[in-house]
Amino acid sequence: MRKRVFSGARPTGRQHIGNYLGAVQNYVALQDEYDCVYCVVDIHALTTLEDTESIREDIYEMVLDWLAAGIDPQKSIVFVQSHVPQVMELHTLFSMVTPLSWLLRVPTFKEKVKMQPDNVNYGLVGYPVLMTADIALYKGEVVPVGEDQLPHLELAREIVRRFNGLFGSVFPEPQAKLTNFPLVLGLDGVQKMSKSYDNHIEVSASHQAVAKRVMTAVTDPARKYRADPGHPEICNVFRLHNFFTQARVEEIAAACRSAEIGCVDCKRILAEGINSSLKPFREKRASLASRPGYVNQVLADGASRAEAIAEETIKEVKETMKLLQRADLERPR
Ligand code: SF4
Repeated sequence: MRKRVFSGARPTGRQHIGNYLGAVQNYVALQDEYDCVYCVVDIHALTTLEDTESIREDIYEMVLDWLAAGIDPQKSIVFVQSHVPQVMELHTLFSMVTPLSWLLRVPTFKEKVKMQPDNVNYGLVGYPVLMTADIALYKGEVVPVGEDQLPHLELAREIVRRFNGLFGSVFPEPQAKLTNFPLVLGLDGVQKMSKSYDNHIEVSASHQAVAKRVMTAVTDPARKYRADPGHPEICNVFRLHNFFTQARVEEIAAACRSAEIGCVDCKRILAEGINSSLKPFREKRASLASRPGYVNQVLADGASRAEAIAEETIKEVKETMKLLQRADLERPR
């Protein structure tokens, strides 16, 4: 029997090439080996969101990108976290077995307190408990994570272990599947590619928009004039060539070092490479977007499949905890 993978992602809207080369392509690949549950974690997003104006649109656009990239809703369950409310119930039950001291020592909580001192909400502290509920509700056995997320997963394992120890074995302890995503720097060549730094290129952008964005990319800072030889090994445009114009990287590196090619031409080649690599993705996206209600259908079906698993789990949890359930009231004492 195939193991179950669970992964959640915040609704960040249209995906950029950093997301695409990292998490999204990994999601697609995992489907061949595991039963995958992919969740848009809208409730998690509320811990840091200042307003919810664009959240519906962001969910829709992100899921459309996932589907166009190859996440197959026949193979994987794709749904929105809040559509399966049992996760809130399990979160509350887990919060009763999680010592506050475990949560206060989480490094990301401390960082968030610094980042948003005026909005240190209860949800921020409980974030790892909700994350544990996300995984455990679907009895997720494998969770794809980057190295930086390992402490969160370790905490999820501790919470599950404590629950199992106190009440009885209900949940598998989720295992980390370490994934080395390629580090894709943004167009500034300094920060990781991210919408919040406005240094990104959306995978669904038009050819012209891609070309325009690529032209703003920072290159080798030592190359001030066209005749200066360049240093591709320190140039972020060259790093992007490694993903999108693999067949020409040696030729480009040599032409850069000998100043045969200028940065504008080099960027034009990169923009063409990005546009031709993403052509099949964009065609599929346009075709899915033209099917009225398709994303809604996928999410509705995903929520039903996820909820069927969630109901079973919650029933088992309450039985194991020996809680008096509504169904018990129908039986004579
Ligand atoms: Fe970078 Fe290309 Fe300019 Fe060389 S020619 S510095 S690789 S942008």
